Amino acid sequence: VLQRALLSFDHILDVRQAHRRTETEIGADEVREALRSSQILPHFQPKICLVTGEVLGLEALARWISPVRGPVSPAAFIPVAEDHGLITELTLNMLDAVLRQMLEWQAQGFMPSVAVNLSALSLTERNFVDEIIKRTREAGIDPAKIVIEITESALISNMGAGLGALGRLRLKGFGLSMDDYGTGFSTTQQLSRLPLTELKIDRSFVSGAPNKTSLRTILASVIHMGGDLGLTTLAEGVETESELRLVQSLGCHQVQGFLLARPMPGDAVWPWLQENAAPIKVMVIGAA
Ligand code: C2E
Ligand code: MG
Ligand code: MG
Ligand code: MG
Repeated sequence: VLQRALLSFDHILDVRQAHRRTETEIGADEVREALRSSQILPHFQPKICLVTGEVLGLEALARWISPVRGPVSPAAFIPVAEDHGLITELTLNMLDAVLRQMLEWQAQGFMPSVAVNLSALSLTERNFVDEIIKRTREAGIDPAKIVIEITESALISNMGAGLGALGRLRLKGFGLSMDDYGTGFSTTQQLSRLPLTELKIDRSFVSGAPNKTSLRTILASVIHMGGDLGLTTLAEGVETESELRLVQSLGCHQVQGFLLARPMPGDAVWPWLQENAAPIKVMVIGAA
């Protein structure tokens, strides 16, 4: 029953979106309690290669099922955690859960890379990067299997702290991804100074691009620029087949989106793969 409840989390969220506005605001104490009692856990959304149709990795996304409120969107509780000094604890909890899950997958012979979302606010905390490195090492997981995602807008407004911290992570072998690219205002100079490995193109460029010439032009140039900079390009939020074909024809490397897979609990990933790896391959590259 719990499994089914978790699986339908994203569907429930859609339905509840309308109600949320009238609900009482989320308090810092609630989020703190949720963290301490492990109510906030990662779900995983596959990242899929547009050339081979293979699942190359997964993104860990925080999911909170409150005993009082039911499922709560990260868009609602992440800002509360950021405003009340809880975001670093949340991130490190997520990392621990991700590392545990990776060890379980490893035992099943499955070793995908996993992306963890990080708030730029944490980068100003001196011990934060050390903790990431230490916990990953203690788990015996290769840092090259972990991608750190940071939202463009937050990263650019914290460039000073960001550069040093990200440089250290990169030196240890962690992947570094600029998330929601196109929603911030990074200059080409900033892009070239950051030790990035991946560029995640914001959904706002992807959805609508098939029907709007100007969006398509921007999307094409962003994909080309990312590729020319030697970065992995990933289009996020692909919901339709025409969006999939468009980003594929523009030479984008990877996709994520509801068309291919929704975020799911860690336990569901391996069974999901058994059932869906082949059909996904067919959808992406066509029948061989
Ligand atoms: P994000 O990192 O850009 O994650 C992508 C979001 O888009 C996720 O929403 C995902 O469920 C959603 N998504 C994926 N495919 C599609 C699609 O085809 N269509 C649509 N409409 N949406 C799609 P989610 O999980 O609600 O997370 C929202 C944001 O909250 C994330 O955006 C990220 O910025 C933040 N977040 C989530 N988990 C964490 C976390 O552990 N730490 C931090 N710092 N932030 C997190
Ligand atoms: Mg992300
Ligand atoms: Mg994103
Ligand atoms: Mg986004």
